[in-house]
Amino acid sequence: MGQHQLTESFITVQVARLRTIPFKPEQKADVGAFVEEAKRILKKSAKSEDHCRRIVDHVVDSAKGFPAPAALLEAAASVPERPAEPAPAACAECSGTGYQVIERLAFNAASQSELLTSAVEYCTCTRGRWLAQKATDRKESA
Ligand SMILES: [Zn+2]
Repeated sequence: MGQHQLTESFITVQVARLRTIPFKPEQKADVGAFVEEAKRILKKSAKSEDHCRRIVDHVVDSAKGFPAPAALLEAAASVPERPAEPAPAACAECSGTGYQVIERLAFNAASQSELLTSAVEYCTCTRGRWLAQKATDRKESA
């Protein structure tokens, strides 16, 4: 907290973008107060200038009226701090999926014979390792 610095002028520009959204009739009397709340919330919620810009993008693109403070807070929480990174390219081995089907012969006791079994594993290419890492991250944050 507090290590990011959003300048007053940056916030002012972003809130000006919010003001392209029409105010609802019930907000009209207190336009100034809504603008001040928007500044306060962006200052508090945005982790970086880029994050702030993306929060405002999201609100401008989706809001039906100038956001009430609670709605702006919610929007800020729904925008990830960093944009989702595109998945890296995969190889021909896994035909672009990042997964490989590994087939092995395994002895099956019930039928007393070798049966072909298959398992899905992450490919060793960049995409496969990326998928494996994401799965690990999810487990750790759960
Ligand atoms: Zn691959």
